[in-house]
Amino acid sequence: MCLACRARDDVSALWRLAVVDGAVVVDRARRLPGRGAHVHPGCAETLAARRGVVGRALKVGIDPAQVAAALAAARRD
Ligand SMILES: [Zn+2]
Repeated sequence: MCLACRARDDVSALWRLAVVDGAVVVDRARRLPGRGAHVHPGCAETLAARRGVVGRALKVGIDPAQVAAALAAARRD
């Protein structure tokens, strides 16, 4: 399910977000261990604007600015 629009979709259509060393990363290969959250690439900007949503989903205290930066970097790839 996409964290931003709440639509269910195949994981191949979504980016997986994971936490590495206290920072959110976009896990393109979907291989990182631990809790993950998913978002449509097209919904990443919406999600970045919803401060705190990713941290709550991943059950970590994370800086919303760091999440936004990780999503912005992934969009540039
Ligand atoms: Zn979405």
